[in-house]
Amino acid sequence: MNAPDLQLDPPPRGGPVQVFYQKPGAARRPVVARGAGIYLWDTEGRRYIDGSSGPIAANLGHGNPRVALAARRQMEQVAYASRFFFENEANRQLSDLVTAQAGAGLERAFFVSGGSEATESAIKLARQHAVLSGQSGRWKVISRNPSYHGATLGAVAISGDFVSERMYGPMIRPMPKVGAPFTYRIPAGHTAESYALACADELERAILQEGAETVLAFILEPVGGLATGALVACDAYHQRVRDICTRHGVLLIHDEVMSGVGRAGRFLASHYWPQAMPDIVTLAKGLAAGYTPLGAVLAPASMVDAIAQAGGFMHGYTYSSNPLSCAIGLAAVSETLERRLPENAAAMGRRLDGRLREIQQRRRVLGDVRGRGLLMAIEIVKDRGARETYAAHEQAIARIVSLAMDRGLLLYSRRTAEGRYGEWLMVAPPLTVTAQEIDDIAQIIDDALAAFEAQASN
Ligand code: PLP
Repeated sequence: MNAPDLQLDPPPRGGPVQVFYQKPGAARRPVVARGAGIYLWDTEGRRYIDGSSGPIAANLGHGNPRVALAARRQMEQVAYASRFFFENEANRQLSDLVTAQAGAGLERAFFVSGGSEATESAIKLARQHAVLSGQSGRWKVISRNPSYHGATLGAVAISGDFVSERMYGPMIRPMPKVGAPFTYRIPAGHTAESYALACADELERAILQEGAETVLAFILEPVGGLATGALVACDAYHQRVRDICTRHGVLLIHDEVMSGVGRAGRFLASHYWPQAMPDIVTLAKGLAAGYTPLGAVLAPASMVDAIAQAGGFMHGYTYSSNPLSCAIGLAAVSETLERRLPENAAAMGRRLDGRLREIQQRRRVLGDVRGRGLLMAIEIVKDRGARETYAAHEQAIARIVSLAMDRGLLLYSRRTAEGRYGEWLMVAPPLTVTAQEIDDIAQIIDDALAAFEAQASN
């Protein structure tokens, strides 16, 4: 694909900037000019492969004409009309489409403006339902450590991230946490499966210790996002978690903000475990594929209808279910399904997995390859034998990201919990990616890791 003709003059570089950079002294970033397919261009004409779809959001790639047309048409018709006065057709159609794909037990959809709002909405929905059902003692939401369910304070309370809790803990009521079933670093004497089952048993112990009658829900990412680097637990873990939640009347919430809408190779990642389906699902990212902020909570009709009959959901936002966002979401989800992108994600995910495992043979710093569909991660280690992580001051992940960017590949990364659980890069291109593009991405990763190893051994 050729670099496009740029219609904007490159802005002055290096002068004062009012942009809220999050790190003082950080090098100025390039200014984005345009996107098409899996590529983004900056104002100086440099091309980048969007190797993680931003933060795993741009599922359809860039410049999708159908989504642009839907946005324009809706904008011209009516961009905003409050749900307090009107239903809107885009909201109705998007609700029908998403709940039909999600399947039985998830018949109602409430649309919000992103993943954090979806988390807040899910736990408030669960709480309101518990109170209505005469179980007002249930309010604790257990989650995994580490985990990430959003940046708002309610979501921080249920995210397993001690760094964030250190800062914001006094402002919230932190909730109980149980271990995440990591598959790469496993305690001695365990296999990945036995450790996962031990983590599930820890959930049951936590419920009993807290008092089952006080526990509202357990929330987890069925295929992990950034917090665990695309962690996938064994089937038996999901079944045991489901059984434990059912046994104790605890709602099971799957946070599919990252894994949903085809990213992991099925419409929902939860569909890999049909016997262990959750009670509530949250979506965002791929729902509008980055074309507008959009998230959703999917819940059973029985739960939502009971709340409606009792006076309504005591929660909402100005932009909940607004026509413009829903029209964009409708075009994005329709495009995802009609182009069979979940299937493409599954096939291209297998190819990517194969390529990354080949690279692992050559590159000693590539410790682990994991994920499902096009939600993959590579874990970086200093010593593969000992699975030792680089020290913080070595900036391993930041340097690899920069080496990849120099070679035209953008990768989203995280040093979770100050490296306590390891550090990884997400490899998650748009679901439209082709076999040739997967090979191109793998080649750049290989080159970047080779360059990093050369630096590291100097
Ligand atoms: N849940 C998960 C699993 C996420 O990955 C994210 C964001 O990365 C969120 C929730 C929060 O979503 P948002 O950033 O749209 O608020």
